[in-house]
Amino acid sequence: MKDWVKINFVKDKKAANDEATHIRSLIDNGLYPARFTMPLTLQFELTSHCNVHCKHCYNVSGEDNSAPDRMTPERWKDFARYIVNHGGIFQCVISGGEPLLLGDDIFGIMDILHDDGTSFLVISNCLLMTRDKVKRFTKYRYKWFQVSIDGATPERHDEFRQRQGSWDAAIRAVFMLTNAGIPVVIAHTVTPDSLHEVDDMCKLAYELGASGIILGEVMPSGRSYMNPGILMSREQRNILNEAINANTQKYAGRMSVQRSSGTKIQLIRNAGTPSTGAIIRPNGDIRLDCVAPFVIGNVVEDDFFDVWNAKAHDVWTRPEVSEYISSWEDEDEIGHGLRNYADADVRL
Ligand code: SF4
Repeated sequence: MKDWVKINFVKDKKAANDEATHIRSLIDNGLYPARFTMPLTLQFELTSHCNVHCKHCYNVSGEDNSAPDRMTPERWKDFARYIVNHGGIFQCVISGGEPLLLGDDIFGIMDILHDDGTSFLVISNCLLMTRDKVKRFTKYRYKWFQVSIDGATPERHDEFRQRQGSWDAAIRAVFMLTNAGIPVVIAHTVTPDSLHEVDDMCKLAYELGASGIILGEVMPSGRSYMNPGILMSREQRNILNEAINANTQKYAGRMSVQRSSGTKIQLIRNAGTPSTGAIIRPNGDIRLDCVAPFVIGNVVEDDFFDVWNAKAHDVWTRPEVSEYISSWEDEDEIGHGLRNYADADVRL
């Protein structure tokens, strides 16, 4: 078997570096902004709470914690209005934890941005999805609506998500969303136990009417550090890559089958191009991405645009951040030192 882990890493790294070189040449010729005075995309992590307890949760959502999030629904609405009043954004990623736990407030927050022309990428486990909610979600423009399904059978998914009935709910929700004309992408995390189900998962996604499926291994972040058995060996990762390649060809022109890119590649891509987005966490912290554990401010305490203009543009060249990126091994993808969402974030 070919060493797909190495082949893909080299290919992805070259693509990330080529993209950075291309953008730098556009900047040099005045054809691309050297810095964005406002973000194009923001991710609203609406809550740290979750109604399932996935073994791999990259940001450790759903721990026993009844304390309310610092970013209350009213604070999210105020922040959405503030963003709109400062010129707005093209796209908002709505995530959590589980964003449907906000009830009607999720629509109140989305409405403010929608009325300003923002489109959405919503990430949900869909346990709380109902026919009425699907109807309300048809109002918005989407990049896609992402539903996580981690097994071709209820047993696999429910065991991984540690919640009985969660597979049934996700399947029902995808049917309702696709029937309502909302573009759905299935996110499927592959573990050593589910490696043999890749073909079945792609078939299931296709039969559910999804426009795409993203397959990837567990991101070494958050709760996965407590569940090392869900990480794959090099040989298993090569088997996964072969299966993804085969299904990409099989569904070409009918459904997109994508492989998620690794942590190091995401870091290289982010570090090589001007910052275009940020993540707002449930406690108000501002991070530039979900794979590097660095916080540049807090929207409850600071003015977001003051923070953006003061810190977002040179954050990737800060010594602590460069050192963090270098700490990742190349194609083996094992970071040394800071463990994202397991150790405390570094405030820059
Ligand atoms: S991965 Fe998603 S659904 Fe699972 S615990 Fe984390 S936030 Fe909840």
